Amino acid sequence: MSQPRKLDTQVIHAGTPATRLAGAVVTPIVQSATFDFTGELQDEPLRYIRYSNTPNHDVLHKRLAVLEQGEDALVTASGMAAIASGLLGVLSAGDHVLVQDTLYGGTATLVAEEMARLGIASDRFDGRQISQLDALLRPETRVIYTEALTNPLVQIADHEGIVAFARRHDLVAMIDATFATPVNFRPLPLGYDLAMHSATKYLNGHSDIVAGVVVGRADLIASARKRMKHFGGSLDPHTCFLLERGLKTLVLRMARHNHSAERIARHLVDHTAVLEVHYPALEDHPDHARGKRLFSGFGGVLAFDVGTGEAAATILANLQLATAAPSLGGVETLASRPMLTSQAALSAAERAAVGVSDGLVRLSIGIEDADELIEDLDQALALLVDATPHAEACATP
Ligand SMILES: *Cc1c(COP(=O)(O)O)cnc(C)c1O
Repeated sequence: MSQPRKLDTQVIHAGTPATRLAGAVVTPIVQSATFDFTGELQDEPLRYIRYSNTPNHDVLHKRLAVLEQGEDALVTASGMAAIASGLLGVLSAGDHVLVQDTLYGGTATLVAEEMARLGIASDRFDGRQISQLDALLRPETRVIYTEALTNPLVQIADHEGIVAFARRHDLVAMIDATFATPVNFRPLPLGYDLAMHSATKYLNGHSDIVAGVVVGRADLIASARKRMKHFGGSLDPHTCFLLERGLKTLVLRMARHNHSAERIARHLVDHTAVLEVHYPALEDHPDHARGKRLFSGFGGVLAFDVGTGEAAATILANLQLATAAPSLGGVETLASRPMLTSQAALSAAERAAVGVSDGLVRLSIGIEDADELIEDLDQALALLVDATPHAEACATP
């Protein structure tokens, strides 16, 4: 078959082996820990699930490399396994890494605690103020690490500037592209060397597996694969199958997430009980211009501020269609309070410094009917307007 050129076709067909297994239209689950091997033959691969080279792994690796325009890809047992394998593929004791200051909590802790225990130092930088980078650079700096969109304020780092800085100083540039997906933003053609995903989120899209992806330069993937083999963070073939199935609807799902989240963000802007809405499609989002230049959509995550922790709790307790739960990227709409979930480990002062107020509610907009989601939000927000005289004070001109 000729190589599919468009993302819509690639999510279905890229990487499918020339000879399909038993003629099956989808990749069957090859649930075998080990495979024929004598060791006598030249080029005879030793296949084993932990080595991530079963037929279910192979097709995903090829497909994901095509989707992200990377040389190679690796699936892992979780997003954290992908991030750890990617970072440890490059970093050793004595090295230094520069990390964005708004990272996913698990990654921030991985760097601050586990990497530190291994003798890897780190410094944090504001992804939108990269003039600070020169002062943080050390002779032993090897890696610069960012996220495509931050959580929960959906900010966009100066990715062009960060990539240029990495080139200038011979650093490996890594990015967690979970919130973006290759539908909305492709970091590798921009100049990042390695992209990671929590495939638990949009790539699978159904909130029913945990998985990760590393994709990018072949030498970096080879090193990440070695780390993953040794630390054992491999993905099981059955979960590979589920991820492959979920991926097929990625383009369709992202189009809906993008569209509905923008509509809902615009609706919330006009609501008297809402102080502020964070979503880069909004013209007054501080990163709107950069977002328009680099991204073709902004995904399903948005955040809005209802003023107090009690008001945010009222919203979560009264949403009927949306479920109060952490995580994101699934077909169902989820709502959470970042101060109790993603930013729970921070002190009140640290939360204030990164702009996470007590009244912040994060939504991961699913693919339900957007009008019904708006109705649901409106009935919960109406309780705030009725309950307090505060609505008038909050109304913005
Ligand atoms: C969820 C998430 C992770 C961690 O992924 P797991 O699949 O839970 O291990 C990493 N980065 C981002 C941005 C995430 O949202």
